[in-house]
Amino acid sequence: MTSVAPTSPIDLNALRLNDARALLDHGGAQLPAPEAGSLAYLQGIIDGLCELSLRDPLTGLANQRHFRAVLAREIEIVARSGNSALLLMLDIDHFKQVNDTHGHLAGDKVLQAVARCISACVRPQDTVARYGGEEFAIVMPDCQAAYGEAVAERIRQSVAALTIVVSPVLSLQVTASFGGAFAPMWVRSTTDLWIERADTQLYLAKAQGRNRVCIDHQQVISVSAEEKSLLFSSLALVDGAWRDGLDSSMQRFS
Ligand code: GH3
Ligand code: MG
Ligand code: MG
Repeated sequence: MTSVAPTSPIDLNALRLNDARALLDHGGAQLPAPEAGSLAYLQGIIDGLCELSLRDPLTGLANQRHFRAVLAREIEIVARSGNSALLLMLDIDHFKQVNDTHGHLAGDKVLQAVARCISACVRPQDTVARYGGEEFAIVMPDCQAAYGEAVAERIRQSVAALTIVVSPVLSLQVTASFGGAFAPMWVRSTTDLWIERADTQLYLAKAQGRNRVCIDHQQVISVSAEEKSLLFSSLALVDGAWRDGLDSSMQRFS
């Protein structure tokens, strides 16, 4: 009887080429040599690629894809538990001037410094993301109104107090504007609606003069028609008895 060597569906030799090199060049996971064990090597590549797909390369924060996944998960948690969760969006004020006056590299250093500053102000369970450009997002689970407001204010002050050393002869200071919105409790909202609420507040903060925090405290009253249609939608299908309860719940939200 002849034994057949097990074949791998993945060509490890191919994997070791460009993608893996790019991963290593990026300063990702420290991979063991291929000879030390193909499985560990492969796992290292997978872990590294996962990391790359979730992080913003400039700041090391969560990227927008990761942020949206966290937000969607938080919506599910809030819908089930009724816990209070806050989404904060913040945008650096007059950032274009930094680039225009001091160059793009100086702008990049400012983005990195602000990212570090935000991360130092939040709890381990909070997610800080680079939403895009000079805009950041913070998802704060289990966050009561007073706490959320205090943290937003603390981040605002910390950013404004930063002295960002760009070169031996140049240090910069920036401010940021903040918009926040709590997830509507007991309602399965959408990521877009939640972001839109926070963005509206951010727009207000800019319009009111920048370097300030505006937070939407309306949690139930501001439930939109779209959210109402999502409210209890799966339960409504289960049993006619639920429908009576749904009707009275809807009245409370209208
Ligand atoms: P406002 O106070 O209204 O927010 O004004 P602003 O100048 O901050 O906003 P604007 O949208 O006009 O400019 C944002 C700038 O951010 C423009 C763009 O070039 C810059 N930017 C976006 N991404 C990056 C990046 O990765 N690095 C650097 N250095 N600049 C970036
Ligand atoms: Mg912006
Ligand atoms: Mg800006």
